[in-house]
Amino acid sequence: MQLITEHSGPSVLSRIFASRQQCPQCGDRLIAPEVTEFIEGGTIQHYWVCDRCGEESQTFVTPPSI
Ligand SMILES: [Zn+2]
Repeated sequence: MQLITEHSGPSVLSRIFASRQQCPQCGDRLIAPEVTEFIEGGTIQHYWVCDRCGEESQTFVTPPSI
């Protein structure tokens, strides 16, 4: 069993936003999600729109249990 150790410092949220996201269509770097939704159960859904080609994509992030 692995435990994820929380270090004092960057919050969970800032680490989520620090994760790099790329457009699946053109590979351009996506800076910030267009929409972020919090789903029941703690899952976070990011909705991305590429500035370059307009490709829409979604990612789901499950934060480590607190
Ligand atoms: Zn793109």
